[in-house]
Amino acid sequence: MSNVELDSLRAQLEDVNLKLLSLLNERAQIVKDIGKVKEVSGVNRFDPVRERYMLDRIAELNEGPFETSTLQHIFKEIFKASLELQEDDHRKALLVSRKKKPENTIVNLKGELIGDGNPHFIFGPCSVESYEQTAKVAEAVKKQGLKLLRGGAFKPRTSPYDFQGLGLEGLKILKRVATEYDMAVISEIVNPADIEMALDYIDVIQIGARNMQNFELLKAAGSVNKPVLLKRGIAATIEEFINAAEYIISKGNGQIILCERGIRTYERATRNTLDISAVPILKKETHLPVMVDVTHSTGRRDLLLPAAKAALAIGADGIMAEVHPDPAVALSDSAQQMNIDEFNNFISELRSSSSVRV
Ligand code: PEP
Ligand code: MN
Repeated sequence: MSNVELDSLRAQLEDVNLKLLSLLNERAQIVKDIGKVKEVSGVNRFDPVRERYMLDRIAELNEGPFETSTLQHIFKEIFKASLELQEDDHRKALLVSRKKKPENTIVNLKGELIGDGNPHFIFGPCSVESYEQTAKVAEAVKKQGLKLLRGGAFKPRTSPYDFQGLGLEGLKILKRVATEYDMAVISEIVNPADIEMALDYIDVIQIGARNMQNFELLKAAGSVNKPVLLKRGIAATIEEFINAAEYIISKGNGQIILCERGIRTYERATRNTLDISAVPILKKETHLPVMVDVTHSTGRRDLLLPAAKAALAIGADGIMAEVHPDPAVALSDSAQQMNIDEFNNFISELRSSSSVRV
């Protein structure tokens, strides 16, 4: 075969490649259009009957030299890529996604800008037990120049016989402390019917791990104008976590802070397994700020500091941890809360670690 002949065949091949390229993209465009029609009419994207029909047609009309099985394999790959194209379009539509909004969402909690690139801190007791107990923690937190106070009033406990929280009385204590110390307070709400009532008492609605897929609660929190801190479910995938946030934003409330608090695994050395890589993944996939709860993830006082350093190093927008004036007699989570001295030490250690501006 002469060189001239080879060059000519190669040129023909190039030509066919370009035709294939253009045909594949033409096909992709039609697939996208079909995806839009299906989305509007609520029809499933994957249609096995239609796929079978197309593969049978290819078998019927194939005249070689490719084997039918080879062609069917190639076409199945094209079908799969097309389906992914439709799914990508769908994912792009998520309101919490970076694709939808490239810039970071900043949630303003009484002047504390969560998501502004600086680390922020939420400290406070697991449960609000009394005015004195809560005020003692508030005073210590305030003394460190910090502004965000947490405290549970409605406690989702594993056992129905454990302390369930002070309820409305707890919210009233938080409000009083917030006013006296000029702080923003965050507390968990467990009942959709309590969301409206909570607006008068707290600055951030916390939705706890056990309620991450309480869709009525998510919708209720999404329908009000109040920041929400959404915790990752005990056994929730990142995709489920993101969709839970989508429930909130889809109702109009975009002031959402995501909080990684550890997930359940086979490991028993810690209370939960802190999924540290969830932080950069959530930051990449969504535009929402991401905090890490080092208390409920580790369940161990000796791990609070290293876990907090790791969280900030990997890009978390803040840390949540529990502080109680006398953890030994705390009505919940007594094993893992810091006392005031330990809290002061925790903060100064974090401040002296090079990368942290607190
Ligand atoms: C809490 O922060 O008070 C709490 C109960 O945490 P979680 O929902 O993450 O278990
Ligand atoms: Mn707790």
